Amino acid sequence: MNSSPTYRLRGDLHVHSHHTECSTHHAGEIRGDPVSCGPQSLFDMVEMTKNDIGMEYVAIVQHPTNPVSPHTIDARRAKELLENQQRMDDLQSEGKLKDFHVLIGVEMSIMPNGKLEVPDYILSQLDIVIIARHGGLNEKDPQVIMRDFRSSLESSRVHILSHPTRYVFPLTLDNWREVLTVAKKNNIAVEYNTSWQYDENFIDLIGEVGAMVSLGTDIHPDVDGETGKLTARQHSQLTLGVNRLFSRGIKPGNILNLMSYSDLRSWLAR
Ligand SMILES: [Zn+2]
Ligand SMILES: [Zn+2]
Ligand SMILES: [Zn+2]
Repeated sequence: MNSSPTYRLRGDLHVHSHHTECSTHHAGEIRGDPVSCGPQSLFDMVEMTKNDIGMEYVAIVQHPTNPVSPHTIDARRAKELLENQQRMDDLQSEGKLKDFHVLIGVEMSIMPNGKLEVPDYILSQLDIVIIARHGGLNEKDPQVIMRDFRSSLESSRVHILSHPTRYVFPLTLDNWREVLTVAKKNNIAVEYNTSWQYDENFIDLIGEVGAMVSLGTDIHPDVDGETGKLTARQHSQLTLGVNRLFSRGIKPGNILNLMSYSDLRSWLAR
């Protein structure tokens, strides 16, 4: 075993919060209650500043529409996304978060032919944009899956490809190499999702292609019994992930979560 480099885990880049869901998904585990995604619930996020595990930032992403049947957002949801971003920016600038930083964004579901759930003018105003395949498409044709990966990774607004191997089975190693190469070419990080992990071969492929890696726990508070506050459990899951990446030769400089907040912001603004 090679010795692991010393590092500081700075944040979790994929967390949902109880205000995140406006529609039912995950087989109905989350109630579809429009009131619970109102902007006032963002104030609950200030709770996260009670972060005693040494992390500096968290990215809170929302599914723009139901991941089971993704579609373009309506005007109400568009307004809500922008309000959430604005409220968090206000809290940040009023000093309410102290030294902690909350990135606000979306986890879009891949749709056919590169169509995006959220229009560009909104994506441009959010801190962070994640995209992922979810169960809704239920596509089994590798050519169609590849087409949708390629086209959705062409958006210059997308920062992270989340849980790439979740739901997708018929792709070959060469297919995956191409997905990762397109991500790398477009400066999109490939997520190591602690809830949907991939194997050592996949980590090696990321290393071979040289793509950036982002880690996230993908916690859904309503489902996982979390409060939206960062926990030691998240910290240890992410630490295990980082060490696993190191053990396959991924360099600290290629892991977003080890960047300082200001370096991360620069990377996101690339
Ligand atoms: Zn979800
Ligand atoms: Zn997801
Ligand atoms: Zn998620």
